[in-house]
Amino acid sequence: MPTLLVTHPDCIAHDPGTGHPEAPERLSAILDIFKETEFFGVLRLEAPLGREADIALVHDPVFVSAVLAAVPATGHVAVDADTILSPGSGTAALRAVGAVTAAVDAVVAGHAQNAFCAVRPPGHHAEPTRAMGFCLFNAIAIAARYAQASHGLKRVAIVDFDVHHGNGTQTVVESDPNLFFASSHQYPLYPGTGAASDIGLGNVVNAPLSAGSDGKVFRRTFETRILPALDAFAPDLLLVSAGFDAHRADPLAGLELEEADFAWVTARLKEAATRHCGGKLVSVLEGGYDLKALAGSAAAHLSALMGKT
Ligand SMILES: [Zn+2]
Repeated sequence: MPTLLVTHPDCIAHDPGTGHPEAPERLSAILDIFKETEFFGVLRLEAPLGREADIALVHDPVFVSAVLAAVPATGHVAVDADTILSPGSGTAALRAVGAVTAAVDAVVAGHAQNAFCAVRPPGHHAEPTRAMGFCLFNAIAIAARYAQASHGLKRVAIVDFDVHHGNGTQTVVESDPNLFFASSHQYPLYPGTGAASDIGLGNVVNAPLSAGSDGKVFRRTFETRILPALDAFAPDLLLVSAGFDAHRADPLAGLELEEADFAWVTARLKEAATRHCGGKLVSVLEGGYDLKALAGSAAAHLSALMGKT
């Protein structure tokens, strides 16, 4: 079965403004590299608009309406210090949600083995009633709830290797024993959450990494903490918050990962999905702010999802 790539040009139209690191060029750089011949075998799908009923599985409808109503006709509106809306932001955020639900549909139906959603804005910092950290709607948490509500999957795991802690995702997971969340992240760093002692109901694994940690430390953390816990949870579906800002070239953080580390972790997660749930895995783009490192890392990720590493 093929690997599915879900994206939409509307996700490039979200523009937080000149100098903002979460720039439209991030997605353009990724989609450019995905045109290379090694990705010809990838199944491609345009993301539909996310349904408000699906977003409501995670977010308060009053919050969702307020975000969409705040989208300006021209110029910019700040919803927090670093989360900025432009005229294209509402549609982009809805496409990001539609991408993950369509990817879950395709993978559960067996039309694709696994999927990568190349969308923006990112989502893992978004709380049920709060947009923050460049994130409007928490697509990965919505995907988890959607898989449970619409496909009857019971146990859904989310692994987040973005360099920042996925506080919004943890908020959704930490009170539901049928969900699992594991995160590797630089600590301390924005948003300040994600201490190792923070374990939810025993279904949350936080693996904080000191600034300067390299691929060796990252891999050991996955081998000793995250992958064994994921195996013990035994998910019916594996979701991945794929941020590439732990790369050594990233301007927003201080870890020292390289493209090969992202290929490695993707291959391990693909193996875990094969062990537990017939390989069903859906990944969504989160951060990554050095354009060259981001594109190379996303290519390594997609290539590994295809089974090429
Ligand atoms: Zn990040």
